[in-house]
Amino acid sequence: MEFSVLADAFERMESTTKRNELTQILIALFEQMPRDVVARAVYLLQGKIRPDFEGVELGVAEKLAIRALSKSSGVPTRRIEDQYRKDGDLGRASIDIMGQKTQTTFFVQDITVERVYETLFKIARLEGARSQDMKSRYISSLLNDARPAEAGYILKILLGTLRFGIAENTIMDALAAAFTGDKANRGAVERAYNVSSDLGAVAEAIAADGLEGAGRFKAEPFRPIRPMLAERVKSEEDAISKMGAGLAAEYKLDGERVQVHMSGKRVEIFSRRLENITAHYPDIVERLPQDVSADEAILEAEAVAVNEKTGEFLPFQELMHRRRKHKIEKAVSEYPVAVNFFDILYLDGKSCLEAPYTERRAMLEDAVTEGERVRCVVMATIASAQEMSEFMENAINAGSEGLMLKMPDAAYLAGARGSNWLKLKKEYRNELGDSLDLVVVGGFFGKGRRTGIYGTLLLAAYDDQLDTFPSVCKVGTGFTDEELDRLYQILHPKVTIRRNPRIDSTMEAEVWFEPELVIETVASEITLSPVHRAAWDAVRKDAGLALRFPKYTGRTRDEKPPESASTTREIVSLYRSQKKTPHAG
Ligand code: ATP
Repeated sequence: MEFSVLADAFERMESTTKRNELTQILIALFEQMPRDVVARAVYLLQGKIRPDFEGVELGVAEKLAIRALSKSSGVPTRRIEDQYRKDGDLGRASIDIMGQKTQTTFFVQDITVERVYETLFKIARLEGARSQDMKSRYISSLLNDARPAEAGYILKILLGTLRFGIAENTIMDALAAAFTGDKANRGAVERAYNVSSDLGAVAEAIAADGLEGAGRFKAEPFRPIRPMLAERVKSEEDAISKMGAGLAAEYKLDGERVQVHMSGKRVEIFSRRLENITAHYPDIVERLPQDVSADEAILEAEAVAVNEKTGEFLPFQELMHRRRKHKIEKAVSEYPVAVNFFDILYLDGKSCLEAPYTERRAMLEDAVTEGERVRCVVMATIASAQEMSEFMENAINAGSEGLMLKMPDAAYLAGARGSNWLKLKKEYRNELGDSLDLVVVGGFFGKGRRTGIYGTLLLAAYDDQLDTFPSVCKVGTGFTDEELDRLYQILHPKVTIRRNPRIDSTMEAEVWFEPELVIETVASEITLSPVHRAAWDAVRKDAGLALRFPKYTGRTRDEKPPESASTTREIVSLYRSQKKTPHAG
């Protein structure tokens, strides 16, 4: 398929902010696409080459892209840099530059999606001394044959700045409509995606075989499964009234969620965001085949840093040492971890996802050989709020942050946040100390010592009905100077020229960010707001909800994708619950 068809669709997508229009453009695009191009197009639409868990990254530096552009266009690098400064985006600048091309090409070959994809794939795989040269050559060869608009998109993909704000949900809607004839089949597409974490592969299968293709996806080792998530609950009483007596409670440990896949001696580990983090835990990899008696398994655990001498749990931050690229052996011996298994998703050829919690727990206990640093998370069956309080007390004393409460008869719902898992944290008991995980969507520059970096951030919640990020507060307290520097480094590359259409804000930020970074905040209360858009019209007409006196806790939640931030529904329920307690506001 000609790349120009994709580039045209990209262009139309860039000029709309309406989800419905985006979906229509995508449906039309998928419908005219040859089947064997669908997977590649889906990756490119997300600015990717392969699913995240494969870790194939383009990683092309701006300098290199500028050199390649100069070579193809004959325009000197200095002029390209000037244009870039003017446009603020190298993709856009390249459209202008290619328009002024001084070198004439006598024969322009139409470039295809296949060719662009294969070339990008080759670029991503290049390593070693001569790789920069080779990359530059590959890029130029594509640009030589590209029309200006196509060149712009190729560069944006290469630099990782292709951003239409299309959510996975929108792509899934469009896939369902285009290949099964009905958007209502989104659920089946989503189920396939939840167990495979590979939207390209799912797209290809349904393009070929419709719903039957989607039905073929099953849990299998080395394909990460999208994690099941919990809703928060405020008190023991609430939990009992939601789940009934006889629920299962487990310690909620404060570490890193790891999804461990094994087959014989081969072990791979995925993070909560489904990145391959096997290299962070060589100790788990080494001992897993002895710890788990199975030929093949997928298990979930919380890896928690422990004090080497006493075995006590240490705070989550200590796990940062495991993220080092070099000298990982040193981190492994200085910062040992305990592996606390809490679920089993696959065992010896069979998916366990459909089995109820109690059965999965029994299989887990059977499979795991407990040892000094390996155990199944502490669990108890709870009959009353009183019993839950006592268990919570034990959990906190043992260094946990609270309890996870699980419906005994519920299956594992991959990729979903629902009421079959609840979390009760000690901080939820204190109305004013409630912490929320919010998405950084905008920034304002600071003054004085903070000139040149962002001093105040605009934060948003996640609206899981609309799939948007409505603003909920501005936060400027709780930051040390060092932390503001660090946040600047993280946020600066996420600056976008236009506001991402998924951000819902009437407030104008000085700079807009791609909604990616999640940070933890506390606030004194939740109030009605005429400005902030979270839960707009939900509590009162023409009003949203906002945090009052928000403060950053100092913790970025790098392991959380933005769709896992606190939802507007949670904020509404916090707002309603604080109304009932007289001291809260
Ligand atoms: P949080 O901010 O509370 O860590 P989250 O969005 O990462 O939340 P949730 O599903 O809402 O994820 O909360 C459960 C999280 O708690 C898991 O992601 C996991 O990392 C951690 N956890 C600790 N102990 C357990 C347990 N026993 N069962 C399940 N998850 C546990």
